[in-house]
Amino acid sequence: MKSKLAAVVLGIVLACSTSIFQTNQSAEAAPAASSIKAKNVIFMVPDGFSPAYAANYRLYKGEPSVMDSMLVGMVRTYSADSALTDSAAAATAMATGHKTNNGMIGTTPDGIQRKTILEAAREQGKTTGLVATSSITDATPAAFSAHIFSRDEESGIAPQQLENADVLLGGGKNFFLPESMGGKQKNRNLLEEAKRSGYTIAEDRNQLQSASGSKILGLFADGDMAPELDREHTNEPSLKEMTGKAIDILRQNKDGFFLLVEGSQIDSAGHYNDAAWAMKDTQAFEDAVALAVDFAKKDGNTLIVVVGDHDTGGISVGGYDQTYAKLEVLHRVKASGLYMADKLKADRSNVKEVLKTYASIDVTAAEEAKIKSAKDAMQAINGVISERALVGWITYLHTGVDVQMYAIGPGSELFRGLHNNTDLPHLVAQVMNIDFGNDSHKK
Ligand SMILES: [Zn+2]
Repeated sequence: MKSKLAAVVLGIVLACSTSIFQTNQSAEAAPAASSIKAKNVIFMVPDGFSPAYAANYRLYKGEPSVMDSMLVGMVRTYSADSALTDSAAAATAMATGHKTNNGMIGTTPDGIQRKTILEAAREQGKTTGLVATSSITDATPAAFSAHIFSRDEESGIAPQQLENADVLLGGGKNFFLPESMGGKQKNRNLLEEAKRSGYTIAEDRNQLQSASGSKILGLFADGDMAPELDREHTNEPSLKEMTGKAIDILRQNKDGFFLLVEGSQIDSAGHYNDAAWAMKDTQAFEDAVALAVDFAKKDGNTLIVVVGDHDTGGISVGGYDQTYAKLEVLHRVKASGLYMADKLKADRSNVKEVLKTYASIDVTAAEEAKIKSAKDAMQAINGVISERALVGWITYLHTGVDVQMYAIGPGSELFRGLHNNTDLPHLVAQVMNIDFGNDSHKK
């Protein structure tokens, strides 16, 4: 019985791999227009987003999310050296099809630089873009557009990104400016260089809105952009606005485009165990997905894939030995824990006022004492709010659970089922019918 079943399963696997092989073979012989499923791909990464974020967000929103109806499968996230990946290794896997060690960007542990799906798309004449709410040089956008041994070498990542992308929108201005201007580049002013090579430069929301041309470099913060909860205190654009502008610019190319969009701050929120920040940035990400889906539906020639890179924080729905959830508490929170901690006086005598003003919470004496005596006030504030909302956390780091994947548009059916994160660029390449072999060393 068992061996018969195994033979049947093996037969199916062989049949599947044969048909994939045949597709690739005919593609190499003569790229037939009919084998191109989608001309454009928008690859969207909610950093740190796992099934429990999605379930919490549905409760927070009060109805299904835009992503919910697009669910297609699950993805394994482990890296070459750990069951718990970081964003650098996860994004390298999703961009190059190769597992690597945590911290490495577009490079395998043997030091070989691996071609990314963004670079492969560019070689085929497609325009390319990167959008993120972290520094644009941060791990996820970096791994699609640069090759370097350590994610910390962000000033080495920035110039590579300018060679690989027509659209770069996010934070991280410091990594493009010279030390003489307070930046991290030794001698180069990459903003000036970009301007000379035809990029429109944008440094705030208004400049982004009025920007035009075929290339744009928009850097809206020195480092990471603000959490969506705190964005109103800044002149920064939303993730949706950046995504819309990126699509407008990239779509001018008749040969199509590849766009990476990262909702970077869901992960940041997870690292701080900040439940309100996590939900608000999930909402900002969902807004960007909705805009992309609108475009894809009208265009009819665009695949959208939405997939997290790993879980952050080991978030749960409920916890604290309670049998219900209370996400509505988070709607009254108007600032991140980081922002609130910054408003505390040195002696923390104003805990009550700060929590009342920014979280609509009348703290109990025990909660006030906890925040006053905590080593890290921000973590204590987030702890109080998470407990009131009954959102559980198990760590300030990542966890190794599988994450869910969503897709819509031509070719989206290929993403069904349980995949390894290294499968994704091959599937994207298949949809766009571009050459992306297993042995994809960078030229
Ligand atoms: Zn992280």
